Amino acid sequence: MKLIPLPAFDDNYIWMLHDGYEAIVVDPGDAQPVLKALQHEGVQLKAILVTHHHADHTGGVEYLRQATGAPVFGPAHEPMPEPLRRLVDGDVVSVLGLELRVMDVPGHTAGHIAYFCNSVAALADGPVLFCGDTLFSGGCGRLFEGTPAQMLASLERLSALPGPTRVCCAHEYTLGNLKFALEVDPDNPQLAAYYAHCLDLRAKGQATLPSTIALENQINPFLRSHHPSVMASVHTFDANGTSQAGVFATLRQWKNHYR
Ligand code: ZN
Ligand code: FE
Repeated sequence: MKLIPLPAFDDNYIWMLHDGYEAIVVDPGDAQPVLKALQHEGVQLKAILVTHHHADHTGGVEYLRQATGAPVFGPAHEPMPEPLRRLVDGDVVSVLGLELRVMDVPGHTAGHIAYFCNSVAALADGPVLFCGDTLFSGGCGRLFEGTPAQMLASLERLSALPGPTRVCCAHEYTLGNLKFALEVDPDNPQLAAYYAHCLDLRAKGQATLPSTIALENQINPFLRSHHPSVMASVHTFDANGTSQAGVFATLRQWKNHYR
């Protein structure tokens, strides 16, 4: 299985997974990069997966559906173009001989879902998570439709997935996120090392993704809001919010205003 981030717009990634014959794509905000990649890789599109309703994740769906006939899978509780196979937590999408398990991860949008694939036989390089705009490397999505408590619960579910899981985020926001993370968690040695690594990747024009769950658990402040060092930093920004959801809410707000 080959896992490829297809750059789209300024900083989106449309993820493609294929076995040399058949492919799936996740969150095709634009059809053109997908059609190009299908041709370049010599593979046929078997399914279009969507995590949430935002246009930068759905803009290419109709064109791809018509061009390839591939079925479209997406969240049950989001405004989405029909026909759509509507998915809820625990549903399984079977495609390319893989099973992708659906997880409800509200917060960025109210009905946001993620897809987790643990079909080890087919995925020698480890499980795969397609998490849309919920978890980013070093950060998380903005709370457009959900509460901090919802987002925190969603991120905790993702954080508990197996460490080697490859985290396929929908945006290249890593460097900006890590600058903020270093502000919040300055004494974290893994974070400093990862920042240097990502600066190098971006200087070469390469994607910083996929990340892994194990790495995110070490460096992502939004998965670490219960750590004393992160809590202490958050309290210097705003002393309110002592519950974990309160600390998380403050952390998210701090990031919203960070430049
Ligand atoms: Zn979004
Ligand atoms: Fe997005």
